[in-house]
Amino acid sequence: QKFVYDFTEGNKDLKDLLGGKGANLAEMTNLGLPVPPGFTITTDACKVYLRSGAEPAALREQVGAHLDALQERMGKRLGQPGDPLLVSVRSGAKFSMPGMMDTVLNVGLSDACVEGLAAQAGDERFAWDSYRRLIQMFGATVLGVAAERFDDALEQAKAEAGAVNDVDLDAGHLRDLVAVYHDIVRLDAGRDFPQDPREQLDLAVRAVFDSWNTERAKLYRRQERIPGDLGTAVNICSMVFGNLGPDSGTGVAFTRDPASGQQGVYGDYLQNAQGEDVVAGIRNTVPLADLAGLDQKSYDELMSIMETLETHYRDLCDIEFTIERGTLWMLQTRVGKRTAAAAFRIATQLVDQGLIDEAEALQRVNGAQLAQLMFPRFADKVTADRLGRGIAASPGAAVGKAVFDSYTAVKWSRSGEKVILIRRETNPDDLNGMIAAEGILTSRGGKTSHAAVVARGMGKTCVCGAEELEVDTKRRRMTAPGGVVVEEGDTVSIDGSTGKVYLGEVPVVPSPVVEYFEGRTHAGADDAGELVKAVHRMMAYADRMRRLRVRANADNAEDAARARRFGAQGIGLCRTEHMFLGERRELVERLILADTDEERTASLEALLPQQRDDFVDLFEAMDGLPVTVRLLDPPLHEFLPDITELSVRVALAESREDSNENDLRLLQAVHRLHEQNPMLGLRGVRLGLVIPGLFTMQVRAIAEAAAARRAAGGDPRAEIMIPLVGTVQELELVRDEAEQVIAQVQKRHDVDLHLALGTMIELPRAALTAGQIAEAAEFFSFGTNDLTQTVWGFSRDDVEASFFTAYLEKGIFGVSPFETIDRDGVGALVERACREGRATRPDLKLGVCGEHGGDPESVHFFHAVGLDYVSCSPFRIPVARLEAGRAAA
Ligand code: PEP
Ligand code: MG
Repeated sequence: QKFVYDFTEGNKDLKDLLGGKGANLAEMTNLGLPVPPGFTITTDACKVYLRSGAEPAALREQVGAHLDALQERMGKRLGQPGDPLLVSVRSGAKFSMPGMMDTVLNVGLSDACVEGLAAQAGDERFAWDSYRRLIQMFGATVLGVAAERFDDALEQAKAEAGAVNDVDLDAGHLRDLVAVYHDIVRLDAGRDFPQDPREQLDLAVRAVFDSWNTERAKLYRRQERIPGDLGTAVNICSMVFGNLGPDSGTGVAFTRDPASGQQGVYGDYLQNAQGEDVVAGIRNTVPLADLAGLDQKSYDELMSIMETLETHYRDLCDIEFTIERGTLWMLQTRVGKRTAAAAFRIATQLVDQGLIDEAEALQRVNGAQLAQLMFPRFADKVTADRLGRGIAASPGAAVGKAVFDSYTAVKWSRSGEKVILIRRETNPDDLNGMIAAEGILTSRGGKTSHAAVVARGMGKTCVCGAEELEVDTKRRRMTAPGGVVVEEGDTVSIDGSTGKVYLGEVPVVPSPVVEYFEGRTHAGADDAGELVKAVHRMMAYADRMRRLRVRANADNAEDAARARRFGAQGIGLCRTEHMFLGERRELVERLILADTDEERTASLEALLPQQRDDFVDLFEAMDGLPVTVRLLDPPLHEFLPDITELSVRVALAESREDSNENDLRLLQAVHRLHEQNPMLGLRGVRLGLVIPGLFTMQVRAIAEAAAARRAAGGDPRAEIMIPLVGTVQELELVRDEAEQVIAQVQKRHDVDLHLALGTMIELPRAALTAGQIAEAAEFFSFGTNDLTQTVWGFSRDDVEASFFTAYLEKGIFGVSPFETIDRDGVGALVERACREGRATRPDLKLGVCGEHGGDPESVHFFHAVGLDYVSCSPFRIPVARLEAGRAAA
């Protein structure tokens, strides 16, 4: 088996085997771009190692052969005393895991060849600095020496030399430091730093393999839903140096602004530095545009390479490069992460450039990003005190209590506090805190610092590099210019779109995208306007592409009107119980307490006109579009007072000897209706069959409202839906009664109302007997909330708060089945019910109205099984439209 590929042998489509970095290095090599020669050890080799604890037998020899070829081409060898070849050993998994795994640079240096490097580079300081970096990185990542041991030694060396910065240490200081580092390794690792370069290389490769399974890498994968068994590739690349003087340097570039999507020159450059210095955000960078003034030739070449890459990948690329004494080298590229806003803008720009078509544009965005754009942001004119300003690294508005370490962030957020994680800079160990926080604020580092990259990936608000803020993590405080001190627990607000940081809570305003859907904004030329234009176009692509229709779950005219503005094509679920709340509760109470038919009829008659008025409004708001009205579903006790409260009230009254007759009757009713498992009790169609006149009253209200709308010149399209049906017999009984009522109303008003009658499929038995049920139903609407509850046996009201966290942590499922449809279980029933229902009745209309109707992943499933529509809450309609388009594209 081939475990090693030269950069000339791979290509960008081999990410499974070569990892993202390796595949793209190969692609760039083949494009003729200046990539330092090297080779990649495959993820297969890593998998063998992780499984068996040993590298595959063939690996050693294959690495040897590729190393020989590399040395041949470079004209120098690892460890060669006069002019040594140095290589970097870098991780690179299929999916980018920024900073999560290990890297070792300068492999190949040893006591024997450090002077040779100095002679070749003509720079003794550089050679000793490279060597001490190798021992430091190798010691920490390969030999497991605590990183602080080296940091402390470096600080001490600076103190002794009276140096402020690392660069103030001269060659002699660094040579001494190397000796100290050697001692640290010997003491802490119990062995000498290996002088044999091949041993260095093999150990470094093994350390990279091992770093796949560090706790932080595992956490990151769980968070990002990256499978745990992919393994990482290892890239071995000849070293080029950005730290050989002022004509050298290193940087990161984007082909477009990853925050806004705007075209232009974006990135950071750091003169006289090595790559790690930029990503770690340790020293402050200059904007990439400034490189033009420092090195015009390299700058021009970089610009031209960026254009080549963008046209080749047909997408935003991010790039790491190094300039070694005026020569530009490409160290990495990949299709870059971007904010949600940038994703929409870039997709439409690429369509305009003719690089992608509409269908592909839809694959470049997703519903989760659109949902993120629908979050509110801070008001334009903020009156709160501004503490400072940093770099707008990841947009959004976040308000929370200041915390200065990840542990506190996690602890406070667990107890329900919203927190802002404030650090000088973040590193991979802060991941837990970043996940827990509303937003992240750092005082150091640029747009490509760890905090910025990771926050963007998570869709979390982030302001980084707010240098005027002095963060003191030890004393848990931050000092702003003018001496304002923010202590742990003080509220701060951060604006990831402008980089501004405020003291106290800043009020938020709606998102421009929501304003657009509401029909309130006009596209301007600013970022918000450009974003709105892009969203508008993408929605149009999606609407053209999709087969699924999108309806709303709405029970009042106001929600219905909003849903329509957001693009709803009808109402898929009107929950009529929501019409029985407030002051009408008393009427329902009277209905429940009724002892005689007369009493019952009286209370139903009192409810009728109110229901009818509700429906008139609803049908008017949705004129011309279908409105599915579901008859009463919840158990009746929900309309009665709480059993404990009422018992106490009655007991107190009795002790005072002034019992209230009504309370006593109520209490009896509460006891009568009390159920151990109300969700499995007297609800849905069962209520309709047990309480005479209840469903017929509702059917009459619907029919009369439709007749009234028709008389007013409207076009009502009501559909009547029966909940919680388990067998066709239930449905038949309700249907027969309903048809009589409808016939009466039609006769009286002399209209044909075309009222469709259908059912929800929300019990396993209904799904399993869908073929029979379809005999009596003109449509099915899948109630996936109850269906999930009954298929899994999970109480939908309890489990998410009780044991789901444990289930998620144990990886039993990656996401709650109440959020994303469980394809294998619940989904299989849905699929079967669709098939069998349509076998009985080919024109059976199929929809879904459970929460899953607005969940991006689930929408793709509903498209695939052939539903006619999904129905979701008004706010999620744009997301459902977009995902329905993506599913069909
Ligand atoms: C369902 O069960 O999926 C449904 C839509 O009904 P409800 O949530 O009202 O029970
Ligand atoms: Mg239900």
